[in-house]
Amino acid sequence: MPIKNGVVECINHPDQIMLKNAGLNAITAMEAGPQGLVFQPMKGIPITVYSCPECGYMESYLAKMTPHWEEALPAAKALPLSLGKEFEDSAMDALWRISGKFGATSVNRNVPVRFGSRIRELDALLSAADAVYVFEFQVDYSHGVVGMASLQLSDAADMLARVNRGIGDNRPIKPILVVPVEVGEPSRWTNIPVLKFDRRSRQFVNVEAVLGFYGK
Ligand SMILES: [Zn+2]
Repeated sequence: MPIKNGVVECINHPDQIMLKNAGLNAITAMEAGPQGLVFQPMKGIPITVYSCPECGYMESYLAKMTPHWEEALPAAKALPLSLGKEFEDSAMDALWRISGKFGATSVNRNVPVRFGSRIRELDALLSAADAVYVFEFQVDYSHGVVGMASLQLSDAADMLARVNRGIGDNRPIKPILVVPVEVGEPSRWTNIPVLKFDRRSRQFVNVEAVLGFYGK
């Protein structure tokens, strides 16, 4: 059924993004013999399979015919545009709900940071006793976008650190990029820790691990 913006959507649930089964699957051949029909597991066609986590609707695409066969579709790199706002809103709500875990004294959204003549807007800022967490929500994590977002977030964190030091606040600034869990593995080369957010369950995935990881 529909592939929109590189995302396979469920035929029954247009807002549901279908999950891709890892790697390739296959439809095996079947041949008529003297004993009737016989499966031929050594023959068949490689396919890429998607399924709806809500209703189980499945969809498959023939793998690309290369010498080693390749997955038919590139992994989705972004949520549909219509879900971008919802993603940010629900990620922000979830941040509020878990903020107690970090001893947060405040959580703010769309926080402008001014340093000299430069202004950056932080998607979210979580202030705790021993650190300040700076969040950027990113629904598109294609290589270039994550790289750019990572650089901007580093820069914003650096600006905030300078501003805070100027007023005697020496808490470490901890930048975190938030991407949708649906779109698979984020690019690896960013030096910013990436936190995954599942907009359907409205939960961060491995939030403790990620925040613990960036504990320097
Ligand atoms: Zn469905």
